[in-house]
Amino acid sequence: MREPAEAVDSPALSRSARELEALSAEDFLAWAALEFGERLCVTCSWQKQSSVLVHMLSTIGLSPTIVELDTHLFFRESYETRERLIEKYDLKLVRPHIPTIAEQHRAEGPNLWETDPDRCCHIRKVEPLIEALAPFDAWVSGIRRQQSPSRAKIAKAQWSERYDLYKLHPLADWDEKKIWTYITTNGIPYNPLHDVGYRSIGCIPCTRPTRAGEEERAGRWSGSDKLECGLHLDTVEGE
Ligand code: SF4
Repeated sequence: MREPAEAVDSPALSRSARELEALSAEDFLAWAALEFGERLCVTCSWQKQSSVLVHMLSTIGLSPTIVELDTHLFFRESYETRERLIEKYDLKLVRPHIPTIAEQHRAEGPNLWETDPDRCCHIRKVEPLIEALAPFDAWVSGIRRQQSPSRAKIAKAQWSERYDLYKLHPLADWDEKKIWTYITTNGIPYNPLHDVGYRSIGCIPCTRPTRAGEEERAGRWSGSDKLECGLHLDTVEGE
């Protein structure tokens, strides 16, 4: 298991932050593919942003490695969405090893998500991601500024000392309405849980539908002060 990287200087990018910020999501992804080549990957958790990204990559002729962190605790609908997207877009998935639920129960005690969700996320998400990202120089994810106050200031391209690569956020400036317009206009398969109140979707024990007037991610770790799983620890505020 690779340890989090030592602090190092970020390698220079061919375009300035200001130029990158002005690019459309499509142009940003096309730039990223030229900049990083095969050392570019995308993470998907089979929410609406994943649907947008895999379709957009396909339309501009890109097929980077997709990293999936299957915590073994996804909703049935998330797995079904994954299969529909794999079939439609011929996705190439990499899945890092994640302990089984039984292994975690034996090692850490039952239902760790109830007793120590930060540790559970660390075991099931953060450690596997660090390992999965080791071969790459850039990681595309679908996080957006509008999703929560803690994500409001994310940059489109951000050096991560923790992962020793660039984190890229082509949808950073998209709002929820733009996401849905893109999905419906293009007929892209999406997670049906979004139709029944789940505006943000993660593991079953830690996700509930959002209520009217709540923030988009209010249904994640509801009832606790936990806002993030830790994957974006060095990107968001309030961790
Ligand atoms: S979201 Fe919940 S169940 Fe999933 S890894 Fe984190 S604490 Fe565990």
